[in-house]
Amino acid sequence: MYIMSQQEEIINKIAQDKIAFDLGIQLLLEDPEYNFKSIFTTLTNYIFNAIPEKTNYNTETYQNAISTIPLKPTYTPIVLLKIFPTRVAFYKLAELPENENKKILTSLLWIFKVTDTERRNTECKNGCGHFWHELE
Ligand SMILES: [Zn+2]
Repeated sequence: MYIMSQQEEIINKIAQDKIAFDLGIQLLLEDPEYNFKSIFTTLTNYIFNAIPEKTNYNTETYQNAISTIPLKPTYTPIVLLKIFPTRVAFYKLAELPENENKKILTSLLWIFKVTDTERRNTECKNGCGHFWHELE
């Protein structure tokens, strides 16, 4: 069986409201093993997995998540997410300079929280085999 890393556990607990959003980000950033590329890859996979529309990875919930990210909407990562199709936007995020890392992480965590919550309330509602949806 797959064992979640501590980082993955924190991400899922944030999505499931078991850790407050701001505290969760702080825990991820202050982790001595913090590695932006690793968290970015994990979150990208999680988000694409949580979005049910697998052609363009675009849904009303995804758009709603982008428009409610708790950061200034003029920040570069949010502007990119708004104007480019999902996959293109994620490629562009990966190429931004390091001083955007915290904003990217905040944006992606928020998008995952919103899209995963939607999934738990619909597709997963009557039970699912997702072990990460069974955290204590
Ligand atoms: Zn599930």
